[in-house]
Amino acid sequence: MAIVVQKYGGSSVSTVEKIKNIAKTVIDRKKSGNSMVVVVSAMGDTTDELIDLANQVTDNPDKRELDALLSTGEMRSAALLAMAIKASGEDAISYTAYQIGIKTSGQYGKSLIEDINKDRLKKSIDDGKIIIVAGFQGINEEGNITTLGRGGSDTTAVAIAAKLDGVCEIYTDVDGIYSVDPREYKKARKLDEIDYEEMLELSSLGAQVMHPRSIELGQKYNIPIYVGLSNSKIKGTIIKGESNMNMENKPVTGVATSDDDVAVTIKNINGEINLISNLFESIASKKINIDMISQTAPIDDKINISFTIPKLELDECLNILKDHCNVKTQVDVDEDITKFSIVGIGMKTTSGVAAKMFKLFRENNIQVKMITTSEIRVTCAIKHEDKLRTVKIVAKEFNL
Ligand code: ADP
Ligand code: ASP
Ligand code: MG
Repeated sequence: MAIVVQKYGGSSVSTVEKIKNIAKTVIDRKKSGNSMVVVVSAMGDTTDELIDLANQVTDNPDKRELDALLSTGEMRSAALLAMAIKASGEDAISYTAYQIGIKTSGQYGKSLIEDINKDRLKKSIDDGKIIIVAGFQGINEEGNITTLGRGGSDTTAVAIAAKLDGVCEIYTDVDGIYSVDPREYKKARKLDEIDYEEMLELSSLGAQVMHPRSIELGQKYNIPIYVGLSNSKIKGTIIKGESNMNMENKPVTGVATSDDDVAVTIKNINGEINLISNLFESIASKKINIDMISQTAPIDDKINISFTIPKLELDECLNILKDHCNVKTQVDVDEDITKFSIVGIGMKTTSGVAAKMFKLFRENNIQVKMITTSEIRVTCAIKHEDKLRTVKIVAKEFNL
């Protein structure tokens, strides 16, 4: 019997009616000869509401307690779905991360799944039960509840599929992966397939449809991930290795944008490499993710250095800078940053893609504040107000 691991996102479990419908769908799939494991997110906007509650209690909620609070949203959905399935006459059992040993490492709020104890899952499958797992949560080395970062239930599903050697299906509110977020560009094209490498870049750069770590795990364990609507004849997208999409020979597969970053500029800092290296090491030691970096040419051995970091990590970063910079150093923060990225494996073999994009920017007066590139992406920091028109112009040019 095949093991099918399905994940239903927040909008898919937002009402009791929807939960009852999922129960029916899952039971039917089991009856057609599969073992079912279902990972659920918190209902609708529950996670946002819980964060809001915490912020009403204090400006700076304790990270351990915040994870304990946020994990409750998924537990509610899991118990409700198990009840709905049982009420329809099929056996089901809900599990929290603790109950099936989802071990995590790293920091609260962005922990990484290290392992899952499959014994209890296997036993429940052998007993013929439909398993419902609360997504987004884990247990760390100290036995405390952790969460995996916003959107992390995708990762719970892929990790379980990898552990049980099952197939993985992610059900959400969009009928597949599009070349551009359909909320930002109505004419975006749905992709039949997309390569892990491209999807990892897109999701890391802001395409919230998949949690980046889920793609990393999919790629590592070679688990194809289906993304689409549940109970629909409309075909979704398969994320897999060596997808056929590049037969089309398109240099750019998709666009991602993110408003979640800020740019920090340190002015007038001594350009000596040891100092710079110590500074970045201190930032890295706090697991603050730096993305774009640029630096000016030295004048009297002094340079300006700019980099982007997630908005949420700004305070922590500024505290580190206080320890490293002397009084003459000035630190500026630019909050008006949208990261705009184009991604495509085709860029490895096509030259002139960045040049084409910059020409478009010049012709349309789009100011570029910072740039980074890799073999398969070009990212520019632009102003918020330019985001939607940039998406449109670039999507049109690259036929996305
Ligand atoms: P869920 O609650 O099911 O996890 P999410 O809100 O996390 O759903 O992700 C689905 C949303 O991701 C869609 O509504 C869509 O607007 C957005 N999205 C961003 N980029 C893309 C993309 N390239 N393709 C499809 N959807 C995208
Ligand atoms: N409920 C969590 C969130 O809103 C996790 C998830 O939906 O995957 O981010
Ligand atoms: Mg999501």
